[in-house]
Amino acid sequence: MSRGWSYVSGDWWILCDVCSRKIKASESKKRWDGFQVCADDYEQRHPMDFIKARADKISVPFTRPQPTDQFTSVTYADTQNTTIPSGTNNGEL
Ligand SMILES: [Zn+2]
Repeated sequence: MSRGWSYVSGDWWILCDVCSRKIKASESKKRWDGFQVCADDYEQRHPMDFIKARADKISVPFTRPQPTDQFTSVTYADTQNTTIPSGTNNGEL
C-alpha cells in the first residue's frame, strides 16, 4: 500500500465521497448507501434498518351492526299565540 503520487499498475485515484480525500481505488470500499469511501469513513448499515415491524391489530374481537335510528312523533299543542309577550327581566325569579 502506498501513499502519495506513486504509480500502481491497474489502480487509479479516486476521491472519497465523504471526506474528498484522494485515495487509491483499491483502498476504497463501497458503503451500503452506494458511496465509495476511504477506510475511515466506512461504516456498516445499522441493524435497526433490517427490522421489519409487525402490522398493528387495530380491530376489535367482535362487532355488532349499528341499529337503525328510531324517531318519535311529538304533537305540540297549538296555543294560538303568535306574538312575543312584552315585558322586561328584572333579574328576579
Ligand atoms: Zn473519507
